[in-house]
Amino acid sequence: MTPNTETSPAQSNEQLFARAQRVIPGGVNSPVRAFKAVGGTPRFVKRAQGAYFWDAAGQRYIDYIGSWGPMILGHGHPAVVQAVQAAVLEGFSFGAPTEREIELAEAILKLVPSMDMVRLVSSGTEAAMSAIRLARGATGRHKLIKFEGCYHGHADALLVKAGSGLATFGNPTSAGVPPEVVRHTIVLEYNNVEQLEQAFAVHGAELACLVIEPIAGNMNLVRASVPFMKRCRELCTEHGALLVFDEVMTGCRVALGSAQSVYAKALPGFEPDMTIMGKVIGGGMPLAAFGAKRAVMEQLAPLGPVYQAGTLSGNPVATACGIATLAEISKPGFFDALAARTRSLVDGLQAAANAAGVGFCGDCEGGMFGFFLLDRLPQNYAQVMQSDGARFNRLFHGMLDRGIYFAPALYEAGFVSAAHSDADITATLEAARDVFKTL
Ligand SMILES: *Cc1c(COP(=O)(O)O)cnc(C)c1O
Repeated sequence: MTPNTETSPAQSNEQLFARAQRVIPGGVNSPVRAFKAVGGTPRFVKRAQGAYFWDAAGQRYIDYIGSWGPMILGHGHPAVVQAVQAAVLEGFSFGAPTEREIELAEAILKLVPSMDMVRLVSSGTEAAMSAIRLARGATGRHKLIKFEGCYHGHADALLVKAGSGLATFGNPTSAGVPPEVVRHTIVLEYNNVEQLEQAFAVHGAELACLVIEPIAGNMNLVRASVPFMKRCRELCTEHGALLVFDEVMTGCRVALGSAQSVYAKALPGFEPDMTIMGKVIGGGMPLAAFGAKRAVMEQLAPLGPVYQAGTLSGNPVATACGIATLAEISKPGFFDALAARTRSLVDGLQAAANAAGVGFCGDCEGGMFGFFLLDRLPQNYAQVMQSDGARFNRLFHGMLDRGIYFAPALYEAGFVSAAHSDADITATLEAARDVFKTL
């Protein structure tokens, strides 16, 4: 841990956590940051650069979260910093249209051509909520299918995951969501073709949409199988429901063309009807988007009857950050290099686990990875949750003690950035070899 400390530690993470808990519920502004699943004290980040961040005590960490995905270039990429600084000088927010909004929309549509138009918003939650409203408004139907373990932000109607079978309507996962609000939300098991077919047989004519994380990143990393995705597409088409890809995490992260381009390789011509984006397209600024074909998008206000709005939507600083980020990741070879680096991490972790006799498996796509203390890759949420939580927590803390910051919960995916060097991967694997021996 020699080079990992800086000179002037200001405060301890413990002190900050105690202070935070007095004024912010749980001390955090988003629950997973509180380390509740793994125990211990959250690291309060002081600053970040490249593949690293430094906490309040001056300790350096190799960051495999990257703000949960957005920091695909690493922290503080010079071209992005420059674009943001220039934008700030021109103004923070106008509440009137700007050219940068057009530029970012054009850049997104070029990368994800299944959409003809996008609307920019400020968070993935807002994008998913608006996309569902639009799907309902455009189809004149109310019901929607989602899958257990998939997260689509915290809009009321999507905050359901209950382990329910067919035709069992979801129970709200959160207090404060009236059961009537999720009455139209049908929750199915991920990768279960039989359940999917039964649900369409019963509800097909009433379904506005099916919303899915194509490569789920909120139950660690679980891919929708190609046959399952094929049936999702076919059944939506057959029954006039919209296939909605939630690519807030996977968008411009698993491939330049997002997860839909990965499925299109296996299923030629494959496209979702609607796409929800966030995280990478904002490059770390509050920015998200949803889009679809022109006829659907023209249902939105001010053209159509589906209302949607936002004071800070298409914010001039956030769009500058997004445009600069997308320009960098569009450079030739960017994703090949990122995918190879990510693959070397996952393969290395596997080898370290094997050497220590620890049951382990991992998967990755582009710059996103997941690993499990299981012998076989899980196919759904229930299988993910068969992981040994206590053992995962020992792994997490063992790595954290060695300056490696993985997600503080076994149901979260991980992220590699272009700033992670071979030396960073090597250091990570060295730490992992140590820690696996203690499991
Ligand atoms: C992060 C995420 C969201 C929510 O985005 P926020 O910006 O946190 O509101 C929605 N869907 C998926 C798949 C996500 O990973």
